[in-house]
Amino acid sequence: MATIKLKNAQIIWPQKCAHCMGTPESSIKAECSVVSRPRYYIFFIRYKVLKISISYPICKKHKVLATAAGIISKRSLINIFLFIMFIAYPAIVPITFLYLLLFDKSGMINTPDYNFLIIMTLIVLIGIAVFIFSMLWTPVKISSATDKVIKMKINNNDYLMEFKRLNHAVLIN
Ligand SMILES: [Zn+2]
Repeated sequence: MATIKLKNAQIIWPQKCAHCMGTPESSIKAECSVVSRPRYYIFFIRYKVLKISISYPICKKHKVLATAAGIISKRSLINIFLFIMFIAYPAIVPITFLYLLLFDKSGMINTPDYNFLIIMTLIVLIGIAVFIFSMLWTPVKISSATDKVIKMKINNNDYLMEFKRLNHAVLIN
């Protein structure tokens, strides 16, 4: 996995599946929403939301998985919300339990609700696993963007090489 920076211009995609280099029968979208730095006015603050969306080739075999992984790993407000619901928020339970187990001497830990603890821990672990799996399985990911520069991650190294060759005119450094 490598990050490349390029000018926000016309991109030429290698005519191969971005995951397996096979015949591309379809395409999927990589999307990213970026909220700009706030501008302060006298009575209000203004943010600009920039939505960048690009389509890249993919084979039939990898379309479903790559689409699902792309939706979960893309940078968006919905995913920040899901991250809080499935990782950060339920993680409070096992973290509190561990803390009490290690440092608390008041005896509160004597009757913990083990079922609740196990369920919350499982939600956190499954959340983390789904998140990592999606990060690894997204062939092309936009990590950040402005109206001038796009930063992308491309998983497959051979695909990345070919991509660089085709787009060397708009690559930055
Ligand atoms: Zn493929």
